[in-house]
Amino acid sequence: MATDTTIFGKIIRREVPADIVFEDEQLIAFRDIAPSAPVHVLFVPKTPIASLDAAQPAHAELLGRLMLAAAEYARTQGLAQDGYRVVVNCGPDAGQTVFQLHLHLLAGAPLGPFGKR
Ligand code: 5GP
Repeated sequence: MATDTTIFGKIIRREVPADIVFEDEQLIAFRDIAPSAPVHVLFVPKTPIASLDAAQPAHAELLGRLMLAAAEYARTQGLAQDGYRVVVNCGPDAGQTVFQLHLHLLAGAPLGPFGKR
């Protein structure tokens, strides 16, 4: 299997520290180093996939697990009732900076309008 050479790959391999809040065989989740909301957690598949644009039909189950892990985390942390936002940045116009597919979970306060330019 290809190795994820991004900063997230280093976190997965414990070469770089992170505040890990969830992990199983296929996914890891840790707090964003520069949070954009009171709760800002990144959910990352351990399989190297550079972006959503690089995802393949073979990744369908993994992507489903990624979404469900974020929802489960929000529910167990008591965030679901007030609500939360899930974001996947893909490519330069979206501001993607780490080229290992990841999902942002943002919560803990009203988040305001989405997608402003
Ligand atoms: P993107 O813009 O690619 O969607 O999001 C990448 C996210 O990774 C950013 O929100 C950024 O703050 C976060 N990030 C970058 N480097 C690190 C790191 O070393 N540790 C953690 N925990 N988050 C990081």
